[in-house]
Amino acid sequence: MYNIKKMYNAETISDAVKFLTDNEDAKIIAGGSDVLIELRHGKLPNATLLNIRDIKEMQGIELINEDIIIKPLSTFTEIAENQIIQERIPMLAEAVNTVGGPQVRNIGTIGGNICNGITSADSASTLFTLDAELEITGPDGTRNIHIKDFYIWVAEVDLKQGELLTKIIIKKESYENYFGHYYKYAKRNAMDIAIQGCAVNCKLSDDKTKLENVRIGFGVGGPIPLRCFETENKAKGKLINNELIDEIGKSVLEEVNPRTSWKATKEFRLHLAQELSKRVLREAIERAGGHIND
Ligand SMILES: Cc1cc2nc3c(=O)[nH]c(=O)nc-3n(C[C@H](O)[C@H](O)[C@H](O)COP(=O)(O)OP(=O)(O)OC[C@H]3O[C@@H](n4cnc5c(N)ncnc54)[C@H](O)[C@@H]3O)c2cc1C
Repeated sequence: MYNIKKMYNAETISDAVKFLTDNEDAKIIAGGSDVLIELRHGKLPNATLLNIRDIKEMQGIELINEDIIIKPLSTFTEIAENQIIQERIPMLAEAVNTVGGPQVRNIGTIGGNICNGITSADSASTLFTLDAELEITGPDGTRNIHIKDFYIWVAEVDLKQGELLTKIIIKKESYENYFGHYYKYAKRNAMDIAIQGCAVNCKLSDDKTKLENVRIGFGVGGPIPLRCFETENKAKGKLINNELIDEIGKSVLEEVNPRTSWKATKEFRLHLAQELSKRVLREAIERAGGHIND
């Protein structure tokens, strides 16, 4: 049933990097909720697996100088229940709580959710709006990259030979005084992949009447998760009112590029992008203490 040639259990990051460097065809396995399905479907014949689940340096969530460091082996359940996350970036807890069902959330890791390179990954659009940085470790040491630059194409991410994701960093200035919301549109509430997911993270002016900054992210808004930077720039500093919300809803249509799939048509996904961006923005503004003036 599972056609596995070799499986190696790494205990440290350097151990993992060495194995990946020495075994070009090695496939990393963390929680296995994607990889085991691929194996079962015969997509990884004669697999060489690198199990990273026991690497202690890649587990846990911590604060360093108020920057939030999420280690990639953190499961969705651990993230949702973590105090640092709940107090500082509750929108991420909200996003990961929409993944699958409890069993998947107990086993699936945020690192695997990012590294599979899939546009519907529920953590991705929220991490985009938190300006998450990824630490990648490989044979030449570590390098940091903004999450938006990590996604190259469908199921293709910026990991070179011998590299793995070792940290997700959310800097204090990226989340302090920001309030956000994630909404997943799917056909049912549990065990369903997003037809579209929308995350909005915003910071209001001191008097709560203007959008000082806003970040808008989509999953399934295109082949890879994306940010609507042009819309964000147009909205910055504007007075919060219904007109602005409508403008933003129309403007995101210039930046998303969904496709028709067996789950939904392109036209329906465009309708969703306009509607979700408005509703999710409204909720984010309210969470930030703002009101929508007519
Ligand atoms: C029934 C079911 C329902 C699901 N529902 C949802 C859903 O609603 N929303 C959603 O977003 N996802 C869903 N998923 C998908 C899945 O749970 C996630 O993508 C999960 O986060 C993958 O994490 P993992 O630890 O299981 O990854 P694995 O399967 O171990 O790995 C996934 C990929 O990432 C790579 N990888 C893992 N960790 C690293 C690392 N640190 N560095 C480099 N590469 C790495 C692996 O090589 C592989 O390519 C569902 C899956 C199942 C089985």
